[in-house]
Amino acid sequence: MPSTLFGVPDEFDVIVIGAGPAGATTAGLLAKRGHRVLVLDRERFPRYHVGESLIPAFMRPMAELGITDRMDARGFERKYGGTLVWGNEQVPWNFSFIEGGAYEYAFHTRRADMDSLILDRARELGAFVLEDATVKEPVEEDGRVTGVRFTLRGVDTQHEARAKLVVDASGQSRLLSRRYSEVTWHEELRNVAVWTYFDNCERLPGDEYTNILIEGLDEGWFWAIPLDKGTISVGYVTRSSHVSKDGRSLQEIFADEVAKSTKLKKMLAPANQAAGWRSARDWSYTSETFYGNGWVCVGDSAAFVDPLFSTGVALATLAGSVLSKIADQIVKHPEIEGQALKRYATAYRGFFDEIRSFVERFYDRTKYKEFYYSLAQEMVDPERTREPSADFVQLISGLSGKHPMLNLDLSDLVGDSVDFKA
Ligand SMILES: Cc1cc2nc3c(=O)[nH]c(=O)nc-3n(C[C@H](O)[C@H](O)[C@H](O)COP(=O)(O)OP(=O)(O)OC[C@H]3O[C@@H](n4cnc5c(N)ncnc54)[C@H](O)[C@@H]3O)c2cc1C
Repeated sequence: MPSTLFGVPDEFDVIVIGAGPAGATTAGLLAKRGHRVLVLDRERFPRYHVGESLIPAFMRPMAELGITDRMDARGFERKYGGTLVWGNEQVPWNFSFIEGGAYEYAFHTRRADMDSLILDRARELGAFVLEDATVKEPVEEDGRVTGVRFTLRGVDTQHEARAKLVVDASGQSRLLSRRYSEVTWHEELRNVAVWTYFDNCERLPGDEYTNILIEGLDEGWFWAIPLDKGTISVGYVTRSSHVSKDGRSLQEIFADEVAKSTKLKKMLAPANQAAGWRSARDWSYTSETFYGNGWVCVGDSAAFVDPLFSTGVALATLAGSVLSKIADQIVKHPEIEGQALKRYATAYRGFFDEIRSFVERFYDRTKYKEFYYSLAQEMVDPERTREPSADFVQLISGLSGKHPMLNLDLSDLVGDSVDFKA
């Protein structure tokens, strides 16, 4: 028999499942607007997570949360751009975020630190956060999700909490979207990654010092992400089908491919491995529906593209910021729920598809730098108002300012002007 938890209210405006970047951003910005929010995560933070290189679009929701200064204060490595060995020439080329607009840098960070920072801010803004709290299932009444049942680590009793809206931000667990939605796998991006960490690497020279290195090879590509205290995260990504045909282990593939690389091999020459191996595979999908009666998803629970271009956290937090504004209006005007969530889902899916389409086309390494620039221009600046290289940077910064997801407006639904500013 579910019970309420001593000392914890059991009625909220919004419940958020998952305290990763998507969940914590949504919750923090809702709490900032004065809503009663419960966040539940099965882990205790700080917790490990892959995804350590961020792009400028991430800075916008972090500015809304008011924590960009804290990232510098914590000493996170600033990321001003990237170095690519990509295309048919194998000649390295660079990009700088400053060329593309609003934010000239983002960060590289251990996700344990970054995710805790965002979650602590959500708490500070008034969100009620329970860690070690695993959501088991939704509470359903008359075909509507009205809450969740969860357990606390080490305790058998199930607890119940209710809300006007439940947000699924449970990442690739897809707690609600798995239950209520089919998923479309993106076959073009059915990939596998193996990664580890190295100390004492040779760093990229001069202005490239804090760049991410992306080095393409015949069958895959490497990331090299400079983290704090000289540690570098290095991962190799290739098609899952290559690995299943191959007798070699992922670690053997990693070592053989490092030997074929140019820039990365040089960086790793003096290095020593500083951690064990990790891997992930087959991660690229879109949920067929992003919402239902009383629930909505955000971040990886809605869709995930691919690590190339490091868009995951930015997309998750941008969508979290947008969803906080939508949910704010739904709590105040419950009658608009269906239409408001439809608008959110359509815009979010469109934004995601734009990024996915670029990533898929960028995977074709038979082309040259100018081709990738013009591809970006076609997508974000068809009237050719800027240099193609600036359009490329704008696209991979994740900031296409004209995109409908970043300019959603519900004023026609609620009958007055909606303040969409945080
Ligand atoms: C190999 C690889 C490399 C990547 N590299 C990058 C990169 O460089 N840059 C980048 O931006 N992105 C990268 N990503 C993507 C990035 O990791 C994700 O997009 C991002 O973490 C999504 O955030 P989220 O908040 O949606 O989900 P998550 O960060 O996964 O958070 C979900 C949270 O939900 C919790 N949860 C799950 N189930 C339950 C439950 N039943 N009850 C309670 N809590 C639950 C989990 O504990 C977790 O804390 C990479 C992904 C992969 C696979």
